[in-house]
Amino acid sequence: MNQERYSRQTLLKEIGEGGQTKISAAKAVIVGCGALGTYTASLLTRAGVGRILIADRDNVELSNLQRQILFSEQDVGEPKASTAERLLKQVNSEIEITSTMTDIGVDNVEDLVDGATVVVDATDNMQTRFVVNDACVKLGIPWVYGGAVGTSGMVFSIVPTGPCLRCVFPTLPPAGQLPTCNTVGIVNSLPSVVASLEVTEALKVMLGEKTTPELMIIDVWHGDLQKIRVKRNPDCESCGKRHYYAYDR
Ligand SMILES: [Zn+2]
Repeated sequence: MNQERYSRQTLLKEIGEGGQTKISAAKAVIVGCGALGTYTASLLTRAGVGRILIADRDNVELSNLQRQILFSEQDVGEPKASTAERLLKQVNSEIEITSTMTDIGVDNVEDLVDGATVVVDATDNMQTRFVVNDACVKLGIPWVYGGAVGTSGMVFSIVPTGPCLRCVFPTLPPAGQLPTCNTVGIVNSLPSVVASLEVTEALKVMLGEKTTPELMIIDVWHGDLQKIRVKRNPDCESCGKRHYYAYDR
């Protein structure tokens, strides 16, 4: 490992040389490679996370370029995951970056997150998040939920000892009910804020530090950051009753 590359974060008392060794030994799985995915993948690559897997099912579209920071006009029509892999390998050739073009569901999620130190949510829908939540709760893998729509977003660290996403959202909202970037739009300064908070939480997981216990709600338009305390629900279908992958709508 080239010491110079990471010198500005090993200098940081929160990380140090020992922390860098942990980051280099860690594996991050990034689920989704849109706005949150391109930012989180870029930051985790630059931080020197030893192994990074990027999973996404889509191709780059022209309307993505407004906020999906890795992609250029020449990438339109190309798969997001492999394009991100190729570009990020140019940023850091000392780590292992892999990608998969896949639609994440109950059938493949456990294989996907297997061996991860931390899973980073960069999806755009609750269905996939519920699947990721149940896989991570079942396998005892910490994951960081992140969402960004309009001018506001949310970040929540889910660790095996704490509340899970289904303690917060017990049932899956009907498809089409929640606002999405496709229906209400998104200000392009939002994803970097949400992704930065997610990456900070992910790095703390890798370092073995305590993650932020509250659900963070950010509004970049109004400059707000709220933190809401969340309790573990003993009747939670996922972390309480261990009824995985069965969602009431
Ligand atoms: Zn739960």
